[in-house]
Order: sequence, then C-alpha cells, then structure tokens
Amino acid sequence: MNPFPYSDDNKRYHTLSYHNRHTYGGKVFKAVIDAGLTCPNIDGSRGSGGCVFCDGGSGYFTADSAVPISEQFRRERSRIHKKHPNALVTAYFQTNSNTYCSPERLGNMLREAELCGAAGISVATRADCLDEEKARILASINIPVTVELGLQTVHDTTAERINRCHSFAEFLGGYSLLKEHGLRICVHIINGLPGENAEMMLETARRLGTLRPDGVKIHLLHVIKGTPMETLYERGYTPLRKEEYIDIAVRQLELLPPETVIERITGDGDKSKLVAPLWSADKISVLGGIDKRQKELDTWQGKLLGGEENA
Ligand code: SF4
Repeated sequence: MNPFPYSDDNKRYHTLSYHNRHTYGGKVFKAVIDAGLTCPNIDGSRGSGGCVFCDGGSGYFTADSAVPISEQFRRERSRIHKKHPNALVTAYFQTNSNTYCSPERLGNMLREAELCGAAGISVATRADCLDEEKARILASINIPVTVELGLQTVHDTTAERINRCHSFAEFLGGYSLLKEHGLRICVHIINGLPGENAEMMLETARRLGTLRPDGVKIHLLHVIKGTPMETLYERGYTPLRKEEYIDIAVRQLELLPPETVIERITGDGDKSKLVAPLWSADKISVLGGIDKRQKELDTWQGKLLGGEENA
C-alpha cells in the first residue's frame, strides 16, 4: 500500500497532475507568455549579465513579446487544444522577471490574461521585484494566481558565486509579503549549483520546507550554450551525475511538507542548447529513477517531518 496520502497512482510525492485533477477536475496546461519585461539582474539595476545559468530569462517556448498578450494566449490555447481539446489553459508569464514593471503595467498584463479566458495565471519573478502595491494587484485578480518565486539556494555564498544579486533575506521578505496577501507561491530551487555539495542542497530544502510553500519546482542545473555557465563548465565545473541527482531529490522530498505540490522535479530545457549534463534530456528515466529509489528506501515526501499523516 502506498504510504503517501496525496496520490492516486502510487507516486510518493505530491505531483502537479494530482493537484490539477483534485483542484480543477482534469488536465491543465500552461500557455507561456512573454510580456516583454527584463530583469534587474540583466539591465544593470541590481547586476548585469544575469545569473550564470540564465538563458535569456528562462523562457524557452515563448512567442514574440511584440504580439499582444491576449493574442499570445489564444495562439498557445489553440496549439494545446489540438492535442488536448478539453484541457484548461492557464497563462504563464515566464520570461525574465514579470513584476519588474510599474504597478499599472502589471495590473494591465494580469487583467488582459484574465479577460481572454485563462483558467489561472502564473507569474515568474524575483523577490526584489515585489512591493506592497504589486502584491495587492496580484491578489485582486479574480482567477487563481500563483507567484513563481526564484530562490535557487538558501546559501548567500552560492548566490554570489552564480551572480544572483539577491540574498536569502530578500527572498524571505518577498515571500512573507505574498503570504500576507494570501497568494499561492511556488518556489524554484536548483540542484547542482557550482560549489554546492549534497548537504547544502538538502539545507535549501530543509529551510524551504519550514516555510510550507504551496508549490516547489526542483530543477537540475543545466549548462546551456552561450551562458556564463558554459564557460564555468569549460573551466572545470562538474555537473551532477544522474544517480547523485536522484538521491538528492529523494532526500529533499523527505524534507518538504506532503501538502506542498511538487510542480517540477527534473529539468525541461531546450535540448538543442543543452551542453551538460546530457543524461537530463531523458526526463522519463529521471522520473522513473526517483520513483524506484523512493520505493527501495521506503520513503516519501515529508517522511522526515513527523506528524500523524506521515506516521
Ligand atoms: S533572475 Fe531570472 S531572469 Fe533574471 S538573470 Fe536570473 S535567471 Fe535570468
């Protein structure tokens, strides 16, 4: 019998498909939108050059930002509906930092997505691009809003090494602000950052778990062509091996509350630009490896947190 409560398919972690089935009653897909914004770590206001792994703002499948948001959404929705006619479609503002603009512009972006029939909105951003007024605008939208907040690591030494140009304390400030406004938050972390060992990655999950986020995306660091990370790789950066990544992810899951939705547990980048680690292109094998390892160890999400539901 599966010991994990938030599953109906033998998974031992709280998958996004489980969450979508139980929240929306079926499949949900994201229409990726490029709102044409930049990032304070690219335009020089906090830093320049971006995080070492940044590939133009993490938006892989985006349309031209000159196309109006409603049109981008409609195009994405028809593409999705060709294959999944009954799926709900949410608008995902993914490229760069999507609250790095005036409150008026943010409100207009969100309302445009709401008016063109999105079932929900996800907004990817950094904690240092939030303030009281923007949090109020995000919370005023009448369809479900998730803020996807980049943390990557709780270790400021690593944050400096990867040119993140923001600290864990700043992340905590942005996180609390969003919580105070009742917003749903999905936090992104990355395994395999330069200079980090397994214990440091577990510490990131441990501290994140105490915040009880609504969702977490666990990423593997991808070395992408043309990024500063490619230079670090040429100079000797060693990517995680597949078995290492699987082991770390399984142990991180033990530290995250069972209610937290694991919205991603392996990378999903542009394969044509991937330099390393090449094993990560086989996503099915990584996901299967995580399931297998959890069964071998008889472990599951939140196992180390105690509590009745985890007994
Ligand atoms: S915060 Fe995001 S968009 Fe900005 S440089 Fe880093 S990865 Fe790129």
